[in-house]
Formats: sequence, structure tokens, C-alpha cells
Amino acid sequence: MRIFLSLFLTSLLLLSPTSAKVKKAAFDAQAAWSYIKDLASDSMLGRKSGQPSGRMGEEYIASKFKEWGIEPAGDNGTYFQNFTIEHRNIKEGVKLEIIAEKTRRDFYYGEDWSVQRFSGSGHFTAELVFVGYGIHAPDKEYDDYAGVDVKGKIVLFSAGTPQKLEKKLGDLTKMEKRIEAAQKLGARAAIVFRPSATQTRYFRIRLKKEQYKPDFVVLSVERKVTDFIFKDLKTELRHLIREIDGKARPQSLETGVKAFMSVNAIFDEKRPTRNVLAKITGSDKVLMNEYVIIGGHMDHLGISPMGDIMNGANDNASGTAVVMEIARIMKLNRAKPKRTVIFALWAGEEQGLLGSRHYADHPPLPIEKTVAYINMDMVGHGSGKIPFQGVYYGPQIWKLLKEKLPEEILNYVMPQRGGPGGSDHTPFLEKGVPGFFIITRGAIKYHQSRDDSDLINPEMLKKTGDFVHAAVKILASESGDFFPPLRQETYYLKYQTLINFRLSLLAEVVENHKDAKDSHVDLQLSVITGEEDLSGDRLRVDILNKFLSASQEINKAQGLSYYSSSGRLTGDIRRGKTTIMAGLNGINAFRDEPRWAQVLAKQGLYFAVVEDPSFLFGEQGLSEEGKKIIKAVNTSGLLLLVKGVDGSQAKLLLKGSKKPLVILDNNLPAKEVMELIKEKESAFGLVWSSGVDPVAYFNKVDEFKKAVGTEYLMMVNEPCLWGKAGKDPMLKVITEIIKAKYERTDRSNIFSATFLRVLGKARGEEDSRVVPYIPF
Ligand SMILES: [Zn+2]
Repeated sequence: MRIFLSLFLTSLLLLSPTSAKVKKAAFDAQAAWSYIKDLASDSMLGRKSGQPSGRMGEEYIASKFKEWGIEPAGDNGTYFQNFTIEHRNIKEGVKLEIIAEKTRRDFYYGEDWSVQRFSGSGHFTAELVFVGYGIHAPDKEYDDYAGVDVKGKIVLFSAGTPQKLEKKLGDLTKMEKRIEAAQKLGARAAIVFRPSATQTRYFRIRLKKEQYKPDFVVLSVERKVTDFIFKDLKTELRHLIREIDGKARPQSLETGVKAFMSVNAIFDEKRPTRNVLAKITGSDKVLMNEYVIIGGHMDHLGISPMGDIMNGANDNASGTAVVMEIARIMKLNRAKPKRTVIFALWAGEEQGLLGSRHYADHPPLPIEKTVAYINMDMVGHGSGKIPFQGVYYGPQIWKLLKEKLPEEILNYVMPQRGGPGGSDHTPFLEKGVPGFFIITRGAIKYHQSRDDSDLINPEMLKKTGDFVHAAVKILASESGDFFPPLRQETYYLKYQTLINFRLSLLAEVVENHKDAKDSHVDLQLSVITGEEDLSGDRLRVDILNKFLSASQEINKAQGLSYYSSSGRLTGDIRRGKTTIMAGLNGINAFRDEPRWAQVLAKQGLYFAVVEDPSFLFGEQGLSEEGKKIIKAVNTSGLLLLVKGVDGSQAKLLLKGSKKPLVILDNNLPAKEVMELIKEKESAFGLVWSSGVDPVAYFNKVDEFKKAVGTEYLMMVNEPCLWGKAGKDPMLKVITEIIKAKYERTDRSNIFSATFLRVLGKARGEEDSRVVPYIPF
């Protein structure tokens, strides 16, 4: 027997190597689908992190990893990375009934009304008191609460802010102040309604957790509800609001109508939850200390306030299942990647990317040695190609994949620009790790109770799984330029809307950059100058001709576009284009005939830079010509950027101009000038010349920020950001910005938002507000 066996083995070994090779297991879509069916079954109760339902999901995944023999990568040799989250939940069984004199009506949660974030709980009937905008400012002679008694009652007010009152009362019109007033004056609940009929699905008011009181309820309602409240009254809501707006005088009213509400809202600042982490340790002694992570969020929405179990099969049992199945077959195939591969299932994504953010902030394995993160969120619907977002931020990764992936996979993978937002790749990107996001097209039933496993298309799981499995094998074993210096800084440079202020000539800019594709420079400022010996109309004709021919070139160039609005700029950045904006170098083109400023602005010139401003000033104050020029600029829509003024001249200009303008200087102005800049909603452009130490430059930025805030500050580079001379020091400035933990708005202000704001204001456009994003 023994001899026979050894003979048999020998004969096996003598066979050709190919036939001896064990057939590798492939990604099994049916197996992946079965995990989805488990995770998205009703018994999982919607997998909400911070709840027993979330724990069930975590346990399920960990038990599978254990069964398959995958190494744990969590705390103390477990599969779990423990942390706490701010947990909010509205328990099922909410109710809002309006009890009018003759009839009563129940309203439908989610469509007619909803509970606001940081609402407390309550189960009671009380009278509704209409209090206009809910503003309580008796010291400033405006009080929506004057003459009405709200103690123990429900206050009803508009979520809008009338401009007149905002001007007069400032911060007292903020929503949090209004909620605080209602609480202080003894109301039990606030019902806010939409200021206008404009339909946005997510009507929310912004409260902070400081406003949370366990027994104070905050609801928002749709028009249907207010219509019902006012139905039997002698007056109309619309009429009252119009009266307040017109006269800036309260129109408060005890309605006599009652409401019954039942809300059980939970807000717990520190709920324990867990990410599930497993790994295959790399086989190479050195490269095992580098990491490739694939992951997706395992949590979903729990049980809705209406009592529906939110199964979240596509969102995101699908991505979770693909991660699990790749782990299983890699283990089954005894895969020996050189680098360590981490399988990560995140908690708390639905509550704000909490699990992935926790990992990125507290990485159990060094984040700076992480080659890439591939995120899957909703990969079970649709058909056709698989979008792979993120190649702009990780071009070296995509380059390698394109070289190494088999043709049959490349055929269905669609590389896309990508970027932060929407899901768990975001915290990785922010740390400089190339973060990719796969979300298949055609998702339906998003955040609805019908997101069930029977709607999953296994073909999409298979395509996603085969692609990510192949990609992981490549990234975990091939060599590549994975850790370029200043990886995180480079991410921020790419992510911010980057303006190259250096004022080159328009024609040169177009010539040098017409082949640009997806560059880090998003907006390029440029100037047009006329021929030196020209003046008057001949100068203007020369300038307009130059502008016209450059515009034609821009239209022809694929990678360029001409500035038209900040919204369009954002779109063009996404399309990988560099936007060009032109202005005037000096004001000779309209100094003799100021009305020409308007003509030039209408043609599409946006600003005028004045480097020698002495003619604007007289013996005392602005010169006559200065006044005339400023008046012309104010009515034209051109933005004036002035360099070389001292403190008192800056003040004269700021006071003399009705529109915002920009003061440019290498050094910060005096505090009072900064304050005047703020008061006049103008801006200061801190000029950064070549050779200036980036740290010293940043310190000035920071000093200005502390004095009056970044809303009035813009960074203005002289060295060109396209080349090393500008880019390298800018990356160092970004190092300081990261170290100082600048908030997103501060970063955006100093890079571009302040400039775009003053530009818009000078042109008489409305503010373009940032649209809040809602994570998947
Ligand atoms: Zn999701």
C-alpha cells in the first residue's frame, strides 16, 4: 500500500506542471448572493450601527471570516476594531395628528413631516401657537413671542429668514437661537415649516447637539400640514408671513388648534460599535508592511420611524458580500500576496462615514504605508460596465492596473475621475491614500424599505468581484510608485479648486496649456494688454481683438473652457478642464472713457489689476479721477485688484467703493484695515513671491485667519503653479494647512471661494451656496 501510494505520487509529480496545478477557485456570485440574503434578511433588523441589529451584522461577518480561516486584523487578535459613535435613532411608531376645531387628521411620516436631528422625545397633546419666524430679540425691538403664551405648548414657525430681520438682528435669526428661545420660554416642541414651496426632498434645519433637550421635540412639516392647521382659522399663513416680511413686525397667533405627537428619539453621544477587519498577511518580508485594503460599509438604516425594516441589500450588503467572497477565495486558493491585504467592513457609514473615518484616524496598520483603498458601495444593481472612480487621485494605481489586468476585465471597467464624497473612500483620500469607489449604475430603491436581496443582479456581483479580486492580486504583489513624496499634500492640491493667479498674458496661457488634460490648475487667471503705443479706441479695439482670437482658441481646445460662473467652473473641473479667466492689466483701456469699463466687462473680462495706484489719490482722500474710476468700476461689474497701497490708501479705497475689491500685498495690513475689509465684504490677497519661505507665508495666512477669518482672505501666487517653482512651495504651504487642521471651509476660502465670492459680488451675482451632500 505504501509503495503503491508513493509510486502514485511520483507519477503525479512526473506529469507536466500544468496538469498538476490545482484549478484556482473563481469568485462565486451565488455564494456572494447568499451572504447578501443573510445580511439583508428581516432577522438582521436593518444592521444599524450602535444597535443590537448592527452587532448582529458584525458578528455574522466575523463568524464567516473565522469559518474560512482568515486572520483577524482588529483589536487584540479579534476581528473587531472597537470605537464609539454619536448615535441617533427615531424609534418606530411616530405619530403626528392635528386636531382642528371640526376635524382631526393624521399625517404621514417621511412625506408630510419628519423629526429633525437632535430632537428630543415627547408623547402629548398641546395647542399650536404660530410665532412667525420664531425670533426672540426683545432687546432689539423684535419679538415673535410678544403677547402670546407658549408655556407647555407647541410653537409653529417658518424656517426661512427674512432679509430685513437678518440685517437688523444678525445672529439672533439663526435657527439654533430660535430653538433655544422656544425652549427657554417653556414650549414643549417646535414645528418648523418650509419657507417656500420649492421642492427639495430633504427639508432639514441645521441644529447642533447643544440644542438637544431630551423632552423638547423638533419637527419639520410640509405645506399640507400647515394648510390643515390654518384651514378653519380666520386668516391664512401666507398672509401672515407677507405681513411680517413687509412690515418687519410680528404677527403671532394662538391658533386654538391642537396637535398630538408621539416621538421617541434617541441621542446617545457614545454608543459602542465596531468595524470588522480581517487580513491575509503578505509573504514578502519587506512588502508585508505595506497594505492594500478593500472594503465597504456593512451598516444600514435599521428600522424606519414608520416601522419598516430597512434591509439594505444593495446598500450595502452587496459590497460587503463581494469583500467577503474575495477573502474566502483568496484563502481557499492559498493566495500568497507579497503585501498584506486587508478586508474591511465599516460601521456607521449611514451616520456619516464614521467607521472608515475612525480607521483612517486610528489605523491599526500604518495608513502612510497603505498602497490603495478600493471601496464598494451598492454594486448589485444595474447592468453593463463597472465604473471605477478615483483615477485622477491615484493615476499610478490605474496605470498599473491597466497594464496588468486581463483584457476581458478591462473591457468592462470604466475608469472615472472620482474624488471624495458619498462613501467610505473619502477618509482615505483625505489621508493621501488613493481611494477608489465602485458603485454600479442603475441602483434603484435607494434608502427604501424595498432594497431587498431579490432585486440583486448576481452578474454585477461577479463582474465587480472578478475585477476587484484581480486588482488586489496586482496591487498586492507588483511593484509600483506607490508612495510618492507628499502624497497627502498632493491630494489637497488636486482636490481644492486651485487658482493660478500669476497673471500671464492670455495668448501665452492659451498657447501653453491648450493640451492640458485634468491638470491640478483649475482656474487660470490671465491678462490682456494692448500694444504699448496705442491709446483710446485703438487700444480698446486691439484688446478686444486679442480677446476674441484667444476665445476662439479656447473654444477649439478640448481641455480648456472660458469662465462663465462658479457653478460652471465646478462642472468643468469634473470634466477635467482648465478654466481661463481674463482681465485687464491696468486701466488704460477705460481711463479716458470710464463707461468702457462696462463694455469690457460685458464682453467677458472679469477684473482689472492696478499696480501703480497713485493716480487714484489726491492731497486728501481720493482724487477726482479716482472717484470717477471707482464709480465706473462699481457699475461695470469688473473686480478691482489693487496693489501697492498703504494702510490709509487702502481704507480710502474700501470706503469709497460700493462693491467689494481686493487689496493685494506681500504683508498683512493693520488690524483696522483687516476689519474694514471684512465690513465691506472685500478681500485681501496675500501675495506670495518666489523665494518666500512657505512656513513664513502660512504664518501670515494664519494670522489673518485669526484676526478676521478666511472668508476675506485669498492666497495669491506669483510663481506659476503649473511648474515646480510654484507647485513645490505650495505643497509645503499645504503641509502647514494640514498640520493646523484647517476646516474644509477655511481651505476652500483661501484657495478659491473668497475670490469667487468677491468676483460674483462685484458682478452683482447672487451668492452661490455650497450644496450639502448626503452620504449613500
Ligand atoms: Zn451605502
